[in-house]
Amino acid sequence: MADYIDALVEAAEDDVVSLDGLYVTTRDNGYRLETPDKSRDSLSEATLRDVLSDYDEYVTNWYFWSRAVGESSPQRRAFLRWVEGADAEDQSVPARYDALRDGIEREWGQLLVTATLGDDGQRRYELRHVDEADREGDDLDTYHEPLAARQLATYDEKGRYRPLKSGTNLAGGWVFPDLDGRDLVETVETFYPASVPNWYREREGTLDVEHWVDTIGRQTGMYSVVETWNRGDGHEHVNWVAESCCDDSQCVKRREWQYDDETDLDVDGGDGAFPCREPCSLVIAASRKWTRLEGENAQTYEFELTPSEKEQLEAIVDAVADDRTDEIREADVYEGANRYRARFLRAKLFDDDGNLCGVPTEDES
Ligand code: SF4
Repeated sequence: MADYIDALVEAAEDDVVSLDGLYVTTRDNGYRLETPDKSRDSLSEATLRDVLSDYDEYVTNWYFWSRAVGESSPQRRAFLRWVEGADAEDQSVPARYDALRDGIEREWGQLLVTATLGDDGQRRYELRHVDEADREGDDLDTYHEPLAARQLATYDEKGRYRPLKSGTNLAGGWVFPDLDGRDLVETVETFYPASVPNWYREREGTLDVEHWVDTIGRQTGMYSVVETWNRGDGHEHVNWVAESCCDDSQCVKRREWQYDDETDLDVDGGDGAFPCREPCSLVIAASRKWTRLEGENAQTYEFELTPSEKEQLEAIVDAVADDRTDEIREADVYEGANRYRARFLRAKLFDDDGNLCGVPTEDES
């Protein structure tokens, strides 16, 4: 503590110390000290040191933010302050310290960050999957190196490759129990690349959002998309893309890009903690495929279905789109997307070539 007071007094001699309600400065007649509940003037250095020793939470808080975190990375500093709500005007340092002793939790995508107090006001951070808030740490695999997050972010629960790092299929079963601020941000950035800088730029009003038309226009070989989708109701196609891929159920980012500078999409961008500033490669790749599909001319087919069969086809599309097929139990034959019911439908309605109701896809006449 004495070292922290030394550093603070030294800093006050050079400049005004002002942080989170603590204010110390030198004047001709000595030092001035202010906290939200006290102000003292004309203090000698010895008296100032003496008084500061009664304000250890303010002193260690100042030391942590000024020396341990510092200003070298404004985005890291802003993120760590956001984690513990340090910029909330209505919370004093002692109240925040009380909250930190219990642990302050913040969600970042599917990550749960818990900030706690270490020695002498240093902060420690735990990181785990948000769905495992209540699991015992002993039940989880423990990691300490930020780069370990790379492997954890690569595959989902079933071991399938995750093409979208911000997809809502982050696997659990792990914990980083004790990170410092620098390693916390590095680990978070490994799970969700560029999420902290983009979040910071957005707060600063400098996030450079690139809208659909601009991004697609830059893609080699994507001219056909612009041609096909920007004509007439192209805007509607892009709504469908955003609804399919960018919805909160599919991606933890908050979509900030729109159709173009002047035209917002009709679908909501979501509530994610951090923004998405441009259509990602998954969306671009999907759009390439959909462009080809959307280029086809509609045809009229005639199928004979019972009302239940029509509803069952709709239920199957819904279940696949919402990734619920695994949740539908084999015994649950009331579910349209139940496997046995789907097999029954196929046995009844498909011919040997896999045509629904025996109707060929191409007109054979
Ligand atoms: S474009 Fe959509 S799916 Fe891709 S990262 Fe952004 S919000 Fe997520």
